[in-house]
Amino acid sequence: MGSTPPATVYWSNFLSNIDWRKVWTLPQKFLLTNKVKEVSFKLIHRFHPVKQYLKKLKSDIDVKCSFCEQHPETCTHLFWSCQFTYGLWKDVNRLMVNKSFSDFILYFRNIIFVMILVIKMVMLFSC
Ligand SMILES: [Zn+2]
Repeated sequence: MGSTPPATVYWSNFLSNIDWRKVWTLPQKFLLTNKVKEVSFKLIHRFHPVKQYLKKLKSDIDVKCSFCEQHPETCTHLFWSCQFTYGLWKDVNRLMVNKSFSDFILYFRNIIFVMILVIKMVMLFSC
């Protein structure tokens, strides 16, 4: 009998209806680079080395976002709410809608659980 990964408890506080079986098994079903798997794993388990995380290890780190230099660099900010990143996601969403997923709406959960987005993009570009 396995134990529940702490990440599932954490993310379930913010996001509902997460299909954890898919989150854990999809990376093995598709040919993804190790880097994509690594980033996804670190995001899900909340130890991606953003500055706010690194500050726990080295207290004198400037935690300002590497892109905008206005907000603390957290995973949420860096991968979703930063004005620069958000512009990228708007373009990705527009591409997905224009190419074939007319009802596609990119949510924060798609970014955190990278695999869902990657798999949709693989489907899009393999047609
Ligand atoms: Zn930023």
